[in-house]
Amino acid sequence: MPENTPEYPQAHLPDVPHRRLLEGQVAIVTGANSGIGKAVAISLGGAGANVCVNFVGNPDAAAEVVAEIESHGSKAMVHQADVSKEDQVISMFDDVRAAFGTVDILVNNAGLQQDSKFEDMTLAQWQKVIDVNLTGQFLCAREAVREFKRRGVKPEVSCAAGKIICMSSVHEVIPWGGHVNYAASKGGVMLMMKSIAQEVAPWRIRVNSICPGAIRTPINTGAWDTPEHYAALLKLIPYKRIGEAPEIGRAAVWLASDDSDYIHGISLFVDGGMTLYPGFEAGG
Ligand code: NAD
Repeated sequence: MPENTPEYPQAHLPDVPHRRLLEGQVAIVTGANSGIGKAVAISLGGAGANVCVNFVGNPDAAAEVVAEIESHGSKAMVHQADVSKEDQVISMFDDVRAAFGTVDILVNNAGLQQDSKFEDMTLAQWQKVIDVNLTGQFLCAREAVREFKRRGVKPEVSCAAGKIICMSSVHEVIPWGGHVNYAASKGGVMLMMKSIAQEVAPWRIRVNSICPGAIRTPINTGAWDTPEHYAALLKLIPYKRIGEAPEIGRAAVWLASDDSDYIHGISLFVDGGMTLYPGFEAGG
């Protein structure tokens, strides 16, 4: 993709957050060795949090994320776990508690796509996407809520007992033919997130989602890898550029910090206006 021309404007990306908004807090980021999860883990570390970099494959990439977080003066650890497996999720929380004492922030980021024309979609494709994208978020959020309730609020750390950020998608509201399993999983994340938020708010546990639009990561290479694909993508984005993973990292730092303490149960769209019905931009 051409870089920084009027047709292909670049995102404004400062290296790391300037303020250590999350000093003394502990975060788990799932699927943190690639794409958005990697950027979120590095941003949280840059903001002062100690971070567990969860991964399911490619340990070398996870180790690189740990090294980068440590270069910003925070602690980091890796933990291999498949988020769709209950025993592995419980062990991950146990290990993080053993290493860092508690968990203050969960970023439920791990996700995947298994695309298919609807009538050809296998039960295995449907189930895999629901297992990772929806059940995986349930299992991690449940362990996080248990830990947040056990510990309660520590005012010197944060005014909330804990924060959960679900990585949803614009496809929690935009239907997506050819990706029915993925859209169903993200629609499920939306009402799971809001229902958990409603239930746990009295314990000062904040639960929100980030809904990325098109962010340049390995999950969607086919949408931006050639000028033709990129031009087609821009028709869906009023702001006329693709998003970069660190932009999701910045949103996650803010949503995890006390700066957003009264933000609860929302879907924060970070999408360059993709949800603004761009087909109507010239009057329909
Ligand atoms: P990615 O493929 O780069 O990263 C996904 C990560 O999830 C990888 O680290 C992968 O190993 C991990 N993962 C997959 N299955 C797992 C499992 N069972 N257990 C633990 N980890 C597992 O893609 P990405 O674009 O960075 O996606 C991250 C999240 O953002 C996903 O939830 C995705 O749906 C969401 N999202 C991405 C975009 C985008 O444009 N890139 C847009 C909207 C939403």
